[in-house]
Amino acid sequence: MKKIQIICPICQKNKRILIPDKIFNKDEGSLLKLPIEKGEICSHQFIAVIDYNFSVRDYEIVDNDEIFQFYLEKTHKHIHTYDFSYY
Ligand SMILES: [Zn+2]
Repeated sequence: MKKIQIICPICQKNKRILIPDKIFNKDEGSLLKLPIEKGEICSHQFIAVIDYNFSVRDYEIVDNDEIFQFYLEKTHKHIHTYDFSYY
């Protein structure tokens, strides 16, 4: 598990989360778009763009629920145990 700090691009609230190492097993070298649901960090939904060194490269604000759901489902499919711990 890797520890990364997610900062909300809207309200700047931040939280550290743990993500599984195997998150990048399938396509190493590419960027991962990790959807952060409302209530996980704060009351906003957004996407954290993470590289394979587990650094957050960028954030994308997604107002469109359909697009957000698309990423959410994609991520759930990709990661078998999509189980974050927050602390
Ligand atoms: Zn926020």
